[in-house]
Amino acid sequence: MLEIERLSVNYGAIQAVRDLSLHVDEGEIVTLIGANGAGKTTTLRAVSRMLRPVAGSLRFGGRDITRIPADEAVKIGIAQSPEGRQVLARQSVQDNLELGAYTRNDGAGVRQDIERMYGRFPRLGERRSQLAGTLSGGEQQMLAIARALMSRPKLLLLDEPSLGLAPIIVREIFDIIRELNEQGTTILLVEQNAKLAMQASHRTYVLEAGQLTFSGPSAELINDERVLHAYLGG
Ligand code: ATP
Repeated sequence: MLEIERLSVNYGAIQAVRDLSLHVDEGEIVTLIGANGAGKTTTLRAVSRMLRPVAGSLRFGGRDITRIPADEAVKIGIAQSPEGRQVLARQSVQDNLELGAYTRNDGAGVRQDIERMYGRFPRLGERRSQLAGTLSGGEQQMLAIARALMSRPKLLLLDEPSLGLAPIIVREIFDIIRELNEQGTTILLVEQNAKLAMQASHRTYVLEAGQLTFSGPSAELINDERVLHAYLGG
């Protein structure tokens, strides 16, 4: 479904991602782990077309997407739930969900999908008119995921969904991730909580200083000492 080939992304003189190749197959949950600053967020932002690579190519569903604009990426089925949630604090829950559907022009379908989100995330339904900034961290994370789902993505990019949340809420978020995947959404997941992410995913890639160091089935990497070393930052 997604093929990243020899991707490099720089911020000025900083090489954030170097010569990275990876793929995500339809139906998978794939985890990207690594220490702080390893280049995980940069990789996701290159896929959602919010950053421009200096080298390499991206293919999605067989199509070259290396140079398409970000809104086109959303239209063809790539949605991102960003690090730090980034919900619009001064807008209602409902407005945030509508925003997630900005590339769609089927009003009735959008309204139906919003109701579906309230069915899946009942706490958002109860708080539909509430300002997003007044939600708890866990509720804001659910809103960020629901907002991304509003574009009906084939591939969902999740950046640090567990960040700053209590363990019981983290478990709930991971249950949702598994459910979404079982219902057909392919997921590329970036996580600091490497153990949990590997438990939830089919395959894992390990990034160190912008470069790929290990990859394989999560069930194998989870017990690999070298991987532990890498995501703890050496
Ligand atoms: P974290 O979990 O801390 O977000 P990460 O693995 O997602 O880490 P990135 O955020 O992709 O890492 O950062 C990769 C490298 O690029 C780091 O060295 C970081 O300092 C640098 N970097 C990230 N964003 C910017 C930016 N906007 N301007 C300059 N350098 C940046």
